[in-house]
Order: sequence, then C-alpha cells, then structure tokens
Amino acid sequence: MKNIPVIMVLFGGSGDLAHRKLYPALFNLYEQGLIHDNFAVIGTARRPWSHEFFREQITDAIHETHDEVDENEVKDFASHFYYQSHDVTNVEHYVTLKELAADLDSRYSAQGNRLFYMAMAPRFFGTIATHINDQKLTGSGFNRIVVEKPFGRDLTSAEELNKQITASFEEDEIFRIDHYLGKEMVQNILPLRFSNPLVKNIWNSDDIKNIQVTLAERLGVEARGGYYETSGALRDMVQNHIFQIITLLAMPEPKDISAASIHAAKQELLDSLIIPNAEDVKKHFVRGQYAGSDTTFAYRKEPNVAEDSTTETFAAGEVKFNAGPIAGVPIYFRTGKEFKEKKNRIDIVLKHHNNPYGRAHSNNISIEIDPESKIFFTINGKKISEPGIRRENLTYAFSKEELAQVPDGYERLLHDVFVNDSTNFTHWSELKRYWQFIDAVEAAWQKENEAGNPDIPQYLPYRMGPVEANSIFESPTSHWIYE
Ligand code: NAD
Repeated sequence: MKNIPVIMVLFGGSGDLAHRKLYPALFNLYEQGLIHDNFAVIGTARRPWSHEFFREQITDAIHETHDEVDENEVKDFASHFYYQSHDVTNVEHYVTLKELAADLDSRYSAQGNRLFYMAMAPRFFGTIATHINDQKLTGSGFNRIVVEKPFGRDLTSAEELNKQITASFEEDEIFRIDHYLGKEMVQNILPLRFSNPLVKNIWNSDDIKNIQVTLAERLGVEARGGYYETSGALRDMVQNHIFQIITLLAMPEPKDISAASIHAAKQELLDSLIIPNAEDVKKHFVRGQYAGSDTTFAYRKEPNVAEDSTTETFAAGEVKFNAGPIAGVPIYFRTGKEFKEKKNRIDIVLKHHNNPYGRAHSNNISIEIDPESKIFFTINGKKISEPGIRRENLTYAFSKEELAQVPDGYERLLHDVFVNDSTNFTHWSELKRYWQFIDAVEAAWQKENEAGNPDIPQYLPYRMGPVEANSIFESPTSHWIYE
C-alpha cells in the first residue's frame, strides 16, 4: 500500500471517539503501511498533557482494542504522536499549532499535506473552521478536513457551518463523516441491488410494497442527557444515518461505481424527495419518550433533562420520493432508545400480486446491519405433509473468520480520506436536502408543542417503542416486519 505523507491535526485528542475508534483505526492503517514513516499526528485538547503522556494514551488505546500486538510496532507508532494543549477559542493557540505542524512537516517530510479532524463537541466546529482560515493553518500540499456529526442542528446552522468551512476548503476537500456508511452491510446495499438480477428486477414501484429501516438502541441517554436535549432522535439518527441508508435503497443505478457517479445518482434521487407538510407529519410520524420502570429512569427524570422535555427519544416516520426506481413507495423508519435489543435492520416488503395459493406469508428481503451482518430472503414454499404454505429464510452470511477480517467503519472511512475517495461521505447538496426534510418535521412538532398539547407517547422500556408507531402505515395490511 502506498505510504501517504501527512500531518494530521486532531481536535478532541483526549476524547472518547479518538480513544476508542480513531487511534485503533490509525494503528491498523499504519500496520498496513498506508501511513508509515512520513506522518505525524498532533492531538489537541484542553488538558495540559505532555507528548509522553499522550503517547501512553495511544498505547493504551491500541492494547484495549487489539489482542496481540508487536510492542516495538506500537512504540514506533506512538512516537509519531504529539500533543498540544489547546483551547479552541484562543487564537494564540492556532499560531503555536501552525508552527508545530510546520516543524513536524520538515521532520517527517510530509510534503505540506494536512488532514484536520474535528472530533469534538459540534458547537466548536465553526470556531475551529474560522481559525483554521484566519490563521492560515492549511499546508502547501493537499488539505482535507473530516467533520464529525452532527453537521448543524437545522438547515440554517448547517449553512452557517458550511460557509465557515468552505472559507478554507473546497467541497472535494471536506469529508462529512457518517460512520454508518463504513459498515459492512450498508456498503453491501448497492452490490445487492445491482449485481443480482433477482433483486434488481423487482426493485421497482410495482413490486415493492414498502421498505422499513429500524435503527434500535438498547441503551438510554446515560450521562448524555444534556447533549441529547439539544438533539433528539430525529436529528441524532434520522438526519444522517437513516437518510443515508434510505438514499442507498432508493437511488437510481449509478453509471459506474466512481464517487462522482454515485453522488450524481444520489442527488438525482434527493432532488425528488417529498418534504412532508403538517398533515403528513400528523398521519405518518410518531415521536415518543421512554417512560421508565421500577428499575430505570423515565427520560424526563434523567440527569440534565427538563421535567417537561419535549425531546423525542423515539421517532418513526415515512419518506417518499417522486423519482427513482421506487418512486412513490413508502419507506418507513423508526429509531429510538431503550428498545428490547440493539438492532440495525432493513426490511424490503414485496407486493403479493395474484397468488393461486391464497394467503401466503409476506415475502421479504431483510438486511441485518448490526449486531449480525447478514442478508436473508423470507420465502414461501409448500408444507411437507399437509396443504398450505410454510415460510423459511434463505440466508447470506459470513463465516467467523470472514467476520474477523471486517474492518471497523472508522478504519474504512479514514482509509478513504487518506486515499481521497469521497464515495462514502456526505456531500453538501445531499445534507441540505436531509435538513430540509428534518426541519419540516421539527417545525410541525414545534407547532404542536407551542399549542400546549404535544402528542408524545411515553413508551415502556426495552420493548419496541410506542404502540402508536404501528399506525403510521398507508396500507391497512402493512405492519412492522421486525417486531
Ligand atoms: P468527548 O466529549 O469525549 O471529547 C471531546 C474532546 O473535545 C475532548 O478531547 C475535550 O478535551 C475536547 N474539548 C472540549 N472543549 C474544548 C475546548 N474548549 N478546547 C479544546 N478542546 C476541547 O466527545 P466524543 O464522544 O469523542 O465526540 C466527539 C465528536 O465525535 C462529536 O461530534 C460526536 O458527535 C462524534 N461522534 C462520537 C462517537 C463516539 O462513539 N464517541 C461516535 C460518532 C460520532
């Protein structure tokens, strides 16, 4: 693999994401030789750490995620890490950062290449982008910036953030990361759709009755109630992960599998996204909050959550497009906290046309993203010794050995940033459409809140969310496949 020279500046170097995901992912890329002799990472955060202490944190992060490692390799890897105590709001600190980056650039022959990674609280993204620009932190080689989610909290703030970032970076230098796009089964959606005539030929509005996307979490908000109050399920999960998955499910066939063609196909679809009005939201959207039990808190009793909070810990709704192969087909989503189990899953429900056997079970294609990676077709066949139809699953799955080789989403996506492949990152024009949709739903809910009688069902923990979500379907014969 080609060794890519680069100085990486990581904002949020002492954070959870960096420790659990980014350092282990960088180590794997280092072991593969993608970054090797000519790279250095400057970790920044507020704490006054020394380089040595920072390197100990890196070493711990590798040990915590790898069973067997060559200690010399870990030591060499960690020696590429430098720490700079940095308050993102202090302009002086950017000057020091720029000098350190220039110094490391000559020591590591990094050819003026810079990679910035915003891995900290999103409220700082704009400030960092502004100072990267006014203190001219970009290098003389390639410049790239990775921006974590959430990218804004509505269209207006996302536009403002985008303006701040585009002051220093071109659109093709901005990598808006959504780690769901690095997941094995999410990356399998397009090959499943386009490399199987069996699937491709039924992927149309005549044959698909509806599609269902469920991203269910077992955990509650835990200690993050304060942050969650500013977000909610719709902004936290739907605006990014769910919409990305839906886009892959509904987009037309790309001309080829280059980043440009895939983004063009996505854009063609998103131009036809139907933005729901208040009436649609009332009929086809449900929000909810977990209600607590003898042993668990209700959401409204969680630390840093308002007693009368209207923030939803569950959201379900309907998405439709006017164009694309499944134009007009309802795509239902639901996501929430305190479900019965952690499960990320897609169900494609096929229409029954004429069937001489009378009643048959629904015929589905399901993609399980987490915790297992598999695709299964639910198909009907005859019962052996009595009349009637029985249902079985045909499963496409991986062996244990294969699963062990699947890289973490962050490793995949960081790799893509280094090799400048933007296929699995969100373009601004896509994000804009997602926000337009979310803003419309939020506005309808906000109106209900202001009217003083918001409809926010309280749901029992560790089940399937509020029962009201069973009534969002257009057809009386539709229901959630995963229950
Ligand atoms: P975190 O709170 O653990 O880390 C935040 C970092 O920012 C710390 O290093 C902290 O020292 C630093 N920081 C805070 N205030 C600062 C200031 N004024 N000046 C300089 N540094 C300051 O957060 P996290 O969980 O690592 O999340 C970071 C980003 O990654 C967020 O955008 C989050 O949405 C996203 N993300 C996180 C995860 C995850 O698993 N943790 C997953 C997906 C996305």
